[in-house]
Amino acid sequence: MAITSKYEPVIGLEVHAEMMTNSKMFCSCRVVDSVTAPPNTAVCPVCLGMPGMLPVINKRAVEFAMRVALALNCTIQPDNVFARKNYFYPDLPKGYQISQYELPLATNGWLDIALESGERRRIRIRRVHLEEDTGKLTHLEDGSGSLVDFNRSGVPLLEIVSEPDMRSVEEARVYAMKLRQILRYLGVNSGDMEKGVIRFEANVSLRPAGSQALGTRTEVKNLNSFRALAEAAAYELERQAAILDASGQVVQDTMGWSESRRETFSQRGKEEAHDYRYFPEPDLPPLQIAPAWIEAIRAALPELPDARVARYTSALGLTPYEARVLAEERPVAEWFEAAVTVGGAPKAVANWLINALFSLMNEHRLSIDQVKLTPAGLVELIGLVDKGAINTNTAKEVLAEMFASGRPAGEIVQARGLAQISDEAALAAVVAGVLAQNSQQVANYLAGKETLRGWFVGQVMKATGGKANPALVNQLLHEQLTRLEGEQ
Ligand SMILES: [Zn+2]
Repeated sequence: MAITSKYEPVIGLEVHAEMMTNSKMFCSCRVVDSVTAPPNTAVCPVCLGMPGMLPVINKRAVEFAMRVALALNCTIQPDNVFARKNYFYPDLPKGYQISQYELPLATNGWLDIALESGERRRIRIRRVHLEEDTGKLTHLEDGSGSLVDFNRSGVPLLEIVSEPDMRSVEEARVYAMKLRQILRYLGVNSGDMEKGVIRFEANVSLRPAGSQALGTRTEVKNLNSFRALAEAAAYELERQAAILDASGQVVQDTMGWSESRRETFSQRGKEEAHDYRYFPEPDLPPLQIAPAWIEAIRAALPELPDARVARYTSALGLTPYEARVLAEERPVAEWFEAAVTVGGAPKAVANWLINALFSLMNEHRLSIDQVKLTPAGLVELIGLVDKGAINTNTAKEVLAEMFASGRPAGEIVQARGLAQISDEAALAAVVAGVLAQNSQQVANYLAGKETLRGWFVGQVMKATGGKANPALVNQLLHEQLTRLEGEQ
């Protein structure tokens, strides 16, 4: 690593996130899956940029954008103006992209992140604005040409621009992941990175340690995964450090990232030709956002991950680890809370989710909304354990069956004869039988080999098909062994 304590990294991120609305930003075409939908099937004259077509603002897209802006603690501007960003590219049929320039939707927010070390950092958000996505180009591998799919043309796109507040690659990565988590929590983006619904652009520079001035930055565009973001930023920091070490000067530049070569490369030639010549979009009226509309959106925001983690630890008594794991995804958090609402003890529900249900979900590659087990079903199962009707090991078996079939716990226990044996007389007979059949081990135990105690428990469990009440077995063994000791 060439970056020594001589330099401090300065990183800012621009994040582009598609809004998961039903229709596009300025026309009524459906927003379709960019990977599976047949190309050019969700298009119309507006998003194909035909002459004379008029755009209309999608109210839902504005609401989704407001959700994000409010979740990021931004101030929403009452007066919004859409602008034309003029440039030519084959995926942009109009020759301009409708975006926001001087008057963005929202400004001056922040996002708090927590690092691996436990340190918390506040990353300021400079602006959040709405625009439309472009079409998608696919360059043929044999070099014979490129294909263009306009299904994505006009899909609502949110640009979230941070201040250059990140001081390490880890901070950039954590910030990006937290942003994706919030977008998913808000129900405005699927978070499906492989489908390109979230894309990153990193502004990277170095400055002498202790300096407050900003060094010359480079921008790395089109980073489509957390890994690409982290690797590209790390590569750029090292590249710049090597230049500075050799007393050279970093040139302000726009870079691409090559996944195959694992390196950044200059895109200067292409980018410098751009002169966007922003001007207000004449086909759209200014977008006025009334305070009442903002407050309605704010009131309908879901509880966000940080707030949930805080509540789970303070009000529900979970550990910070349990709270974080359960609050990670909103559907899991809501499942957990549904179980608590129907009477599950938070700690027990958390335990069963984290230690049993998650592994079943991983094994079968199912998400929480696909599992047949219901929150009430899990609470019933926990109740059977608490009452002593089944022991914990049996409960794990029952859980697996509930997971597979969705049948209630009580029904499975009855049908399979799994009820725990808590009948003292019956168990006492089993214990006596085990001790009688293993006189050598009993003699060894009485001679001081106390570890055999666990072995006796195992024998009783085996004899009862694992259904014996473990607490009772221990108690009976203790009684009977003490009696044998006395008879010696
Ligand atoms: Zn359209």
